[in-house]
Amino acid sequence: MAEVVIVSACLVGLCTRYDGRSALREGLMEEIGGIPIPLCPEQMGGLPTPRPCAEIEDGDGRDVIEHRARVVDREGRDVTENLLRGAEAVVKVARFLGVRRAFMKEKSPSCGVTRICRNNSEVPGSGVTTAVLRKEGIEVRGLD
Ligand code: SF4
Repeated sequence: MAEVVIVSACLVGLCTRYDGRSALREGLMEEIGGIPIPLCPEQMGGLPTPRPCAEIEDGDGRDVIEHRARVVDREGRDVTENLLRGAEAVVKVARFLGVRRAFMKEKSPSCGVTRICRNNSEVPGSGVTTAVLRKEGIEVRGLD
């Protein structure tokens, strides 16, 4: 049976980004080599689209899941619980489908794998969903 993989929904062309746009990556299907399950953790965590851009204040997704850091949007609203809820929802799908690999969008406070954004700059670190997926033992690859 073909492998099922989780993919950030915006990468497959769904308009789930904070600004209401997608981040379509050409050639994605060949790269992932499996059946994609497109998911947007921020929508699954109850946030609307479009929505104000959000950033992890200090540290990265690992610090958020260990309650050492918050995620705050551009309007000053604390959206930490939304991102945690979305990450848990993604992991539930992964468990249910037996997913072992995920392909996530870099620079997002949820999906970033090696880079997230802070103060309009890229900084090293992972997003909240990536941190939770890794804790679950799922291999996560970052794509732009
Ligand atoms: S949370 Fe992830 S899937 Fe959703 S728009 Fe942001 S990068 Fe894409």
